[in-house]
Amino acid sequence: MLEFGSAEASTGEVDVGRLQAGETRDGSAFALPVAAVNGAGDGPTLYLQAGSDGDELNGVGVLRRVLDRVDASELDGQVLVVGVLNFHGFQSASHHNPVDDTKINRVFPGSRDGSSSERLAALVYEEAVERADYALDLHQGSTSRMIDEVRVRCGTAHELHSTCLRLACAFGTEFVLDRKGPDGQLARVGPDDGVPVVDPELGGSVGWDEGSIEKGVHGVFNVMKELDMLDGEPDMPKQQYRAKAFENVHSGRGGLVDLEADLYREVDEGEPLFDVTGVLGRHKETVKAPCSGVVWRTRRLPMVASGEYVLSIASEIEEI
Ligand SMILES: [Zn+2]
Repeated sequence: MLEFGSAEASTGEVDVGRLQAGETRDGSAFALPVAAVNGAGDGPTLYLQAGSDGDELNGVGVLRRVLDRVDASELDGQVLVVGVLNFHGFQSASHHNPVDDTKINRVFPGSRDGSSSERLAALVYEEAVERADYALDLHQGSTSRMIDEVRVRCGTAHELHSTCLRLACAFGTEFVLDRKGPDGQLARVGPDDGVPVVDPELGGSVGWDEGSIEKGVHGVFNVMKELDMLDGEPDMPKQQYRAKAFENVHSGRGGLVDLEADLYREVDEGEPLFDVTGVLGRHKETVKAPCSGVVWRTRRLPMVASGEYVLSIASEIEEI
């Protein structure tokens, strides 16, 4: 029997349940939605998590579909799933945990008697990450527009870097960001404790993004194949790329932005990226690429003030 919270899965079965997580402001108990997938054969334990940022819904969509499609009788190993980590943020679709205004992915491994976010981080860290051999922490570019990519955050000098990069490539989104992340990220802290964790970033949108959700489902099953939890080879793009740095590009003038170079576009230094016009028209400026690279992320809304963020170019792109 595989137990996770109240989920109890017999061999070859899947069960969903709740993991008790504390009390809300009105004193009622709250619990995270969890699932346990108990494979018929022996194999590694994979931890899957979504909703660390409460406005990032694509990962929630991915896990719902993975649980619908996975056949535990054909699986070697076990899967532990937390469908929504940021319980309070999810209720109001806010990025941070509104109880302590904190981004949960900066406080891992958390603390059982700490702040609200630290307690949630510690709960899943102790109940799931420490039981796992590998983990995927599903994110997206919040509500800005972003390409589908996977982040390796342990740093290239880390002893688990090659394993993390292998997971990221197997996930198979074509683009990987390979750069050491900030303190408190699960994809940093897990590898320090011997658990390879990568951070798939599945697009960015307000609400659902079907294309990114389906890519994420494909990626999760790819990783299970890479880890020999399922039969077959992962289905990956023939060529994948990794970026090591970003350059953020801001508007020089205030007004409305029209992108000339959209997501996934390869640009050369000096190439036009976007135009800014006044609210009632009339061209004000054309902003050009400060470096060569791939347009990785853009703002969602068209209006900008002078000095406001418009897009990011991933530079130092190389084939992997
Ligand atoms: Zn996120």
